[in-house]
Amino acid sequence: MQTLAIVGASLAGISAARAARAQGFQGRLVIIGDELHRPYDRPPLSKDFLAGKISVNDLSLETGDQDSGTEPLQAEWLLGTRAHSFDAASRTITLGDGRTVEADGVVIATGASARTLPELAGLSNVFTLRTLQDAQDLAPELVPGGRLVIVGAGFIGAEVASTARALGMDVSIICAGPVPLSGPLGTEMGAVMARLHEINGVELICDTGIDCFYSGEGNVTGVRLDGGRYLSADVVLVGIGAVPNVGWLASSGLGIGDGVLCDSMGRTNVPGVVAVGDCAAWFDHRAGRHHRVEHWSGALERPALAVAAVLDPGAAQQPMNLPYFWSDQYGVKLQFAGHARDAERVAIEAGDPEQHSFLAVYYRGADPVAVLGVNQPRLFTRWRRQLNAASASLQPSLVPS
Ligand code: FAD
Repeated sequence: MQTLAIVGASLAGISAARAARAQGFQGRLVIIGDELHRPYDRPPLSKDFLAGKISVNDLSLETGDQDSGTEPLQAEWLLGTRAHSFDAASRTITLGDGRTVEADGVVIATGASARTLPELAGLSNVFTLRTLQDAQDLAPELVPGGRLVIVGAGFIGAEVASTARALGMDVSIICAGPVPLSGPLGTEMGAVMARLHEINGVELICDTGIDCFYSGEGNVTGVRLDGGRYLSADVVLVGIGAVPNVGWLASSGLGIGDGVLCDSMGRTNVPGVVAVGDCAAWFDHRAGRHHRVEHWSGALERPALAVAAVLDPGAAQQPMNLPYFWSDQYGVKLQFAGHARDAERVAIEAGDPEQHSFLAVYYRGADPVAVLGVNQPRLFTRWRRQLNAASASLQPSLVPS
């Protein structure tokens, strides 16, 4: 392997680059990213950065790396440069400006983009939140007394609601489902999160669709909900999920579904090409299907497995941790590991949801399959470790014959 190219210069991309060097790769390392910035961290964009508590410098994913003034990864960075297309068979990446990069191994780490509502395109007080630029555009709009309407009650919507509320805004969230976060947490625990919004003075409107938006002078002025209720709006945040950035791979020859289809080490259908992070749908043996994990720890940890597979095609299967994420809302830390959808019931094992400090375990039969900790970091970590150990022993290729 002489040249390893990484497409996407964010968390999964830099984690892959670090893993390659840590695993002894000494060849040419090319990192291609369409943003102009060096890799930065996204979770603070909806939290402390949006609240004005930390600066752009605090977002760097390379803190410490560059203090010496050296380039520790000894990589060629092609930033502000979009990968336009990819020929997987020859492992050739064509850039937006027509240049090409040929490589022996390729790591695809192009992440995801915020889903938008096309009917709101071009209206100046409508925002999504995925990039540093998005956060820099939204932050000045969050002013005391302003009226923020959030479409979607996922993590981004909930965290921005929390930040905006702390800044003195009047906030409503429109949620299409019965409770917020019903997908990742299940309906029972989603109801607990709904209560958290309510007691913090955010109006959560569930099981409700949007009939239409009203606009004037290039801005949304209000929203009419199904059923006829009208909400006025100074600012609108659309938080309805993210779509994997795989359009540039359309004619590549790679298998694409909801993301780049991979085995449980990140290998695609083409030797020497792996995919990691939010754009990648790794095969999940427990669920028996491909599954895209859009969480920070997956983008941090999984690239080491994929890089091992690309540097050594015979690399043995390694255990994969269960998906893990955290979220910070209204001063409460929520942590979750596993898959809520595998569960038949949820039991509170410690603490009290009313006090916003509890641990809930999700069971299938007698087996724990997921755990939620709310302001319970130590207990949560213990449970997470146990679940990961149990899950590793069940992964088919790891079970001793
Ligand atoms: P991304 O971070 O999306 O990076 C992909 C990079 O590739 C981007 O720079 C993109 O511009 C670039 N790119 C795309 N297409 C091309 C192309 N064709 N050519 C070149 N470059 C390209 N997770 C948690 O677990 N907890 C949290 O609290 C949390 N908070 C979050 C808050 C926000 C506001 C956001 C947006 C995400 C949050 N996440 C959180 C999720 C976490 O940040 C992501 O899972 C992580 O950033 C994924 O990293 P990635 O490198 O796979 O993708």
